[in-house]
Amino acid sequence: MSTLCEIRGLSVTYRGQTEPALDHVDLDIVAGERLAIIGESGSGKSTLARAIAGLLPPGARLEGKMQWRSGQPPLPGRDLGFVFQDPSSSLNPVLTIGEQVAEGGRRHLGLSWRPAYTLALKMLERVRIPEPENAMKAFPHQLSGGQRQRVAIAAALVARPGMLIADEATSALDMVVQAQIVSLLDELVREAGMTLIFITHDIALASGFADRLAIFKDGNLIESGPTGNVLASPKDAYTRTLIASHRDLTTPPLIREASV
Ligand code: ADP
Repeated sequence: MSTLCEIRGLSVTYRGQTEPALDHVDLDIVAGERLAIIGESGSGKSTLARAIAGLLPPGARLEGKMQWRSGQPPLPGRDLGFVFQDPSSSLNPVLTIGEQVAEGGRRHLGLSWRPAYTLALKMLERVRIPEPENAMKAFPHQLSGGQRQRVAIAAALVARPGMLIADEATSALDMVVQAQIVSLLDELVREAGMTLIFITHDIALASGFADRLAIFKDGNLIESGPTGNVLASPKDAYTRTLIASHRDLTTPPLIREASV
């Protein structure tokens, strides 16, 4: 597997802050992997995502380097899709679902209205929105939280980006819907050979499907490695505490599978 991006000594300090939100982070992003960024609230996960996407707010100071294999950072929307915890931050309440999903095709693929609309409809089918033709004409508030998140995924993937960042994308959903959305994301990225960066506070959720875990605390990368290795032999006491707090991870079969 080839490295898509080498992150070395990456620090980010927001304007007006003295302490960095990310502190000398070294991490590789591997093409086609499902990488989970795990940590409690405020540990720097979203800051890392914004740095990767080149979407840090004005005045944020970035030190260190991010070396992209392609020579240049991915363009958000076209090369890199984003799904957030709250779809209302990515979905516009006054536009129909169809208009919003089609917009990515128009803007990033240069499609005219009709093919963009047809592509949007296909994407809604792909993310298994029931009655997609009706959903195209609906507004976000007319859908359930889980359906809105499916729409946000469709909108993020419509331009066929090589990478998807899901930032706490399932945290606001109940357990059953969360499991459905995770399994959908997993299926879509596998099928397209996409790289997934899955940001979550929930190590158990991430461990169910991620290839690699990267554990963050207070802006520091505590440890990273293949999921099985991190679960079976965590190097850091903090990771051990995280694992121990999830009964599911300390009992077979995950640990047993992880250690083979
Ligand atoms: P997480 O995603 O793990 O919850 P964040 O990356 O959002 O963590 O935040 C890391 C730290 O940076 C926190 O202390 C947070 O308060 C601070 N922070 C985040 N965004 C900003 C901002 N725009 N301005 C100032 N501080 C910020």
